[in-house]
Amino acid sequence: MDKRYIDLHIHTTASDGLLPPERAVELASDLNLSAIAIADHDTVDGYESAKEKAEELRIELIPAVELSITYKGYDFHLLGYLIDFQDSGFKKKIENFRMERLLRGEKMVEKLNELGVDLRIDTVKTIAKGASVGRPHLADALLKEEYVKSYNEAFARYLGYHAPAYVPKKYLTPEEGIELIHNVKGLAILAHPGTSHRDELLLDFLEMGIDGIEAYHSQYDRFQVNHYINWAKKFGLVYTGGSDCHGRGEMILIGKVKVPYLCLEMLRKAKKKMFGG
Ligand code: AMP
Ligand code: FE
Ligand code: FE
Ligand code: ZN
Repeated sequence: MDKRYIDLHIHTTASDGLLPPERAVELASDLNLSAIAIADHDTVDGYESAKEKAEELRIELIPAVELSITYKGYDFHLLGYLIDFQDSGFKKKIENFRMERLLRGEKMVEKLNELGVDLRIDTVKTIAKGASVGRPHLADALLKEEYVKSYNEAFARYLGYHAPAYVPKKYLTPEEGIELIHNVKGLAILAHPGTSHRDELLLDFLEMGIDGIEAYHSQYDRFQVNHYINWAKKFGLVYTGGSDCHGRGEMILIGKVKVPYLCLEMLRKAKKKMFGG
């Protein structure tokens, strides 16, 4: 039996994670993982920063990205794996998403100001340090300025989906997201369906052309893992998995879910079948 394990969903300081990309590689290497993917929101900068360290420590680093899509009024995440991360058209597109994220951050700060919270966008920018801006950065800023007592309170009171300072991201359809990934010869995988609780829409995603789903995730129980593996198998799709580690709190989640190396092999096989070579 293949005893190799991987983690295909790690966030770094290039987006809303707290671990520098090189550090994520070191931790994965300490845990004897065979391969990892840095799947940051709307950026591949983490992959580029971690490449050298991964070569040094002989751990496979898979080029990946996590995009945000909207379907029937709900937000979903779409992972792109084995993408040609150097493609200039792709880079420009995701750079645009990052710019939209900053504008959205500004809008959320405006809403906070209207609510009497005197937060400045510069505080958020300082915390994000040039990374792809997300609500976690706003939560950190609110905590730093002592408008909330905890990271979770920031979401509960202000930033969560139904909270008063929430602003949705710019609309990207599933088809557009899938096309973007396919255009750079990547596999489009629906991220953590088990946290979206919209299984009734899975068949729609299948029809729209996803290549697989994330069947292992740190927030799933084993019943969910089996459920999503079986679902993927039923339709001949790839299934993948990862911790979705953001490096927040006391727990570093890297490697906490046992994802078999087989998942990476499935991705490679699917890529070969779709794009050749
Ligand atoms: P964004 O992409 O800017 O909408 O931010 C999404 C990120 O915010 C997720 O990846 C989570 O890390 C975090 N997040 C979203 N909702 C919550 C919540 N209710 N409590 C804590 N973190 C959250
Ligand atoms: Fe995130
Ligand atoms: Fe996600
Ligand atoms: Zn994620």
